Amino acid sequence: MSIGLKASALFERALDLVYPQNLYCLCCEDTMEQSRIHGICDRCAQKISWLDHDPFRASLDEFAFDRLMSCCVYGFYPRKIMHALKLHGKPYIAKNIGLLMAEKARLECGAFTAAVPVPSSPSKLKKRGYNQAELLAKVVCRELGVPMWTDALIKPRDTASMRLSTGLERRNMLQGAFEVPEKACAKVRGADILLIDDVVTTGSTADACAMALKDAGAKSVSVLCFASSARAFEEKDLDAKDCEDAVN
Ligand SMILES: [Zn+2]
Repeated sequence: MSIGLKASALFERALDLVYPQNLYCLCCEDTMEQSRIHGICDRCAQKISWLDHDPFRASLDEFAFDRLMSCCVYGFYPRKIMHALKLHGKPYIAKNIGLLMAEKARLECGAFTAAVPVPSSPSKLKKRGYNQAELLAKVVCRELGVPMWTDALIKPRDTASMRLSTGLERRNMLQGAFEVPEKACAKVRGADILLIDDVVTTGSTADACAMALKDAGAKSVSVLCFASSARAFEEKDLDAKDCEDAVN
């Protein structure tokens, strides 16, 4: 085992000790009677709209990706979890959510050449200090035994804030925002890519990424995320509408 791997295993062990992992629910922060593998208490788990189908299946023709695998609808509780991950980068959240995402991919029985996290622009990465999609991808890759390619897709520039934009506006803003670097083209050609992001709302980001990967010759692009907007799907927790997505 390399020194790097040893150090990282140690780091994980240290996190387990520092953070009382799975003693507190990621959603309500209440103590859990029993330790739950994914850190979500039974009460909260029941309030999340878990998905057993592709929420974009009726409109896949509009997108460059081939399918979307999403654990749940982006309602109140998933939003809370994602905010905690994005704002604080708590590693134990990435671990719990990454495990759920890996399970989702396993259920869908896909075979992937490699996983590619949706990249952040250099300035965003500098500001936040980490890319949450990459934190999740790391866990997914380890669980599925698939390599992670962080060099296969880049976002060279910032795009304007898209918080209040419509799907079409977002799509126009993102056109050409992602690139496959010249040196990565050879491995991307013919590959079945698992594109990983934390949340998919309009699908514009995943679409722009998939377009760049397919332009470079990727055979297929399957998107895996924790939560996605409900397309023709009734949200269980309507409170979500009051919860501003301030960090997307
Ligand atoms: Zn809870």
